[in-house]
Amino acid sequence: MSERRILAIGAHAGDMEITCGAVLIKEAHLGSEVHLLHLSRGGRGHPKVPPEEYGRQKEEEARACARMMGAQVHFLDYFDGEVPNSREVRLEVARVIREVRPQVAIGHWQASLHPDHVVAHQLTDIGILWAALEGIGEGAPWRGVRRTLFAENWEDPGGFHPYLYVEAAEFRQAWREAVHAYELFRGGVSSFDYLGYYEGLGQVRGAQVGVGWAEAFGVPPWAERQLVTSVIG
Ligand SMILES: [Zn+2]
Repeated sequence: MSERRILAIGAHAGDMEITCGAVLIKEAHLGSEVHLLHLSRGGRGHPKVPPEEYGRQKEEEARACARMMGAQVHFLDYFDGEVPNSREVRLEVARVIREVRPQVAIGHWQASLHPDHVVAHQLTDIGILWAALEGIGEGAPWRGVRRTLFAENWEDPGGFHPYLYVEAAEFRQAWREAVHAYELFRGGVSSFDYLGYYEGLGQVRGAQVGVGWAEAFGVPPWAERQLVTSVIG
């Protein structure tokens, strides 16, 4: 087990890879153990392929994408649109957190156009808490999540502001190739230009901090507090 472990928890297969995949690839390159947890495969998004079949396709695509990213992938078995914030799912998320033992968790921002994303945000917070508690669920408690970050997802815009920027120009091409495993990001499923959007966003975020290309993350409001001894430094 690597000393540095990251767990990205997405509502649907593809959410975390498209939003922060270049950073995940970079972290894997730097020696971190990178894990993806998809609460749903997201089988209902295809205009022509039935949900069960598209769900199987998305699982294959998620596995191929994770392989190219140097990440390990975990699935929960919920249909998109129906991911519940139930005791059962909280325990499942906490179980994966206890297995992976991440220092950093990446999740969805709290406000979203998609109800599954809102639930995924809540499940990430509750899963981290339940994973740390004694006497609930299976496995040894894990209290080592030091930082929770929120990926910048076009569906999760309400009140999101980027706080932590990670330079990732060197991994942009590898990210592009990895997410290409998904038909969704090759342009065959949705009219939304995923790659164009996130390529451009990376450009904007990079320009804001003076680098070529970057992915940015939100943090919980309390994580923006900084203690200094003097304002002049
Ligand atoms: Zn999603």
